[in-house]
Amino acid sequence: MPRVKNSVDDLAIFGGDPIFVKPKSTSNLATPNFSAFLDYSRLFYREKQYTNNGPCNRLLEERLARFHDVDHCITFSSGFWALALTIQKLALPSKNKIIMPSLTYRRMADIASWAGLEPVFCEVNPTSLAMDADTTAACIDTDTAIILGAHPIVNCCDVHGIEQVARENRIPLVFDSVESVFECYEGRRIGSFGNAEAFSMHACKLINGFGGGYITTNDESLAKDLAAARGFGFVGIDTVGVTNGMNAKLNEMHAAMALASLDEVTNQVELNQERFLAYQSGLATITGIELIEFNPDQRPGYKNIVAHISSTWPFSRDETVQILNAEKVLSRAYYDPPLHKRLPNHLQHQKNTKLATTERLSKQYLNLPCGQQVTTDDIFTIIELLTFIHHHAELIKIKLSKCVI
Ligand SMILES: *Cc1c(COP(=O)(O)O)cnc(C)c1O
Repeated sequence: MPRVKNSVDDLAIFGGDPIFVKPKSTSNLATPNFSAFLDYSRLFYREKQYTNNGPCNRLLEERLARFHDVDHCITFSSGFWALALTIQKLALPSKNKIIMPSLTYRRMADIASWAGLEPVFCEVNPTSLAMDADTTAACIDTDTAIILGAHPIVNCCDVHGIEQVARENRIPLVFDSVESVFECYEGRRIGSFGNAEAFSMHACKLINGFGGGYITTNDESLAKDLAAARGFGFVGIDTVGVTNGMNAKLNEMHAAMALASLDEVTNQVELNQERFLAYQSGLATITGIELIEFNPDQRPGYKNIVAHISSTWPFSRDETVQILNAEKVLSRAYYDPPLHKRLPNHLQHQKNTKLATTERLSKQYLNLPCGQQVTTDDIFTIIELLTFIHHHAELIKIKLSKCVI
């Protein structure tokens, strides 16, 4: 049972007991049927092929290719390496720059580094929170090697617009589609746009393989190259190709988990939608916090719950996150700091980059707890908590100003 707040002193940020005993996170943490996971595991256990394109990986690649309505799927040990190796393969030779948004996944600049490229951070569209055709085109120059089209956390980016910019400039395009794995864009399942699309199966994503990633593509030669690159560059027994090989294979146990998770994905999405509707009805009575709505035309996965904190809400986004986190409501700032505000040493020459829209938006959104471990009752408790802090805002603000948190 959640703990009730009778007075402002009961808030955990002022020393009270957190409202939840167990943290409520923004990770999906799907727990597919355990027997299904074991049944799939028997496939590789019996054949004693634990890695190197074993039966679970082959089945998973086939199932994911069908799921995304695309010719090829190649699995990897993580979304990170799926992206890094795909970018490295597709980048135009002797060009050095990769265009990507700054308001995106925190390790995206590192992915570029591992692929040997320097990021050029583009602006985002304030409505979609994602890069679009114009913000992408504004960054193209003669040194552009590739465009990384990243979907935002809710809904899809301007897929066709960015594809057109890439085509007109003859620049390869790879999508980071981790957050749009379930969505459709103009009637077509995400997965066959650009030259390739990359996905993650980390436990916090919609499809849980404990960890792992994959790419989808209709380019057969790219698929072949990537299948070799993830396994040391082997192209035959004791024969390595000329490409840079490394070990980024997905092991069979992870593939078995991903298969069990994929079996339940539609059901999961229905539950996610119920969570979203619970937030939607609860937040309707609170002014100053508005959910980003899902676009029903894109047949959403309803995985992430993102809210906008407007100026009518009495606290800043960061204060709100701090108050909630103390209560074990593990809300998180939406992609903050943006990448150009936290540059690694080798990118310090970019430190004067100004992206006004990105900087403004990065202070206004937060992710709310969601996923398979959060019940609708938990959501109503979170709403009650938000209502309580809204109601007692003045006193809370005074107390906050007196303590260093
Ligand atoms: C999680 C994530 C990744 C990285 O995937 P891993 O499998 O954790 O390496 C890349 N891009 C986005 C948008 C992500 O959310």
